[in-house]
Amino acid sequence: MLYVVATPIGNLSDITFRAIETLKNCDYILCEDTRHSGILLHHYEIRKPLKSFHKFSETSKQSEIIQDLKQGLTICLISDAGTPGISDPGEKLIQECLNHEIKVVAIPGACAAITALCSSGLNTSRFQFLGFLPRKAGELKRILQEVLTFPGTTVCYESPNRLIDVLQILKEIAPERLLAVARELTKKFEEIKRGTASELIAYWENAPLKGEVVLMISESPEIHSHNWQELTPQQHVEFIQQTYGMTRQEAVVSAAKIRGVSKRDIYNVVNRGQ
Ligand code: SAM
Repeated sequence: MLYVVATPIGNLSDITFRAIETLKNCDYILCEDTRHSGILLHHYEIRKPLKSFHKFSETSKQSEIIQDLKQGLTICLISDAGTPGISDPGEKLIQECLNHEIKVVAIPGACAAITALCSSGLNTSRFQFLGFLPRKAGELKRILQEVLTFPGTTVCYESPNRLIDVLQILKEIAPERLLAVARELTKKFEEIKRGTASELIAYWENAPLKGEVVLMISESPEIHSHNWQELTPQQHVEFIQQTYGMTRQEAVVSAAKIRGVSKRDIYNVVNRGQ
């Protein structure tokens, strides 16, 4: 059996009784960095063998782990912080376990995305999680433009040294949009800062942005107030083009996502002029 066990994202106390019990009772623990996880395990007096399992060894170690699981061993998967598989190794191993009909049990706990969202004051009833944003400028801008039409909150992970670059793009393409940045969650200098891109850039202008951050982009007030169900696909594409300065192709992609249909469906209708 594979247990996917969530561990703290900063504050050592953010771990469940069940997580500790499961870690204490397994045969061995897979972790990204044995020294890093050693601190947590030592704190809770968990004395189990630690094996390294990180993004570079995820594929090569998989068959050995599957063999152990098939022989009846109980293995726990943890990551450096939070929930394994969420922008951390685990997804492929979990899929492989299921392919081999090996039981996978998740032990819930801390996750930076959910912790950030809950304290952001933004829409929590509908949200999307993007993980880390792309590094290439062109792709980053394209994704951010797409995000602007999402009718809910968008949650992204980002490194502190790239956050200002992301905010600069948002300042250009969505100057009015409300954003929230959750920094150092569960730690001593935790802060949740809300504002437009310009306000956030100004806030961190003189004090360098340090620590771990989660960026949240609020839903579009226009899309929200505008009942798109009342628009024809053609009107919807034009509305998105005008509101967000998108190309026709980008607007078609966004309209298709919002309406829950394929791009082709929208293209066909738009090309017929409906
Ligand atoms: N698996 C983890 C989870 O469940 O949240 C995420 C791991 S991912 C490699 C690391 C990213 O998560 C950081 O770059 C940051 O965006 C976010 N993060 C993790 N801990 C955080 C914290 N204490 N405060 C703010 N963001 C955090």
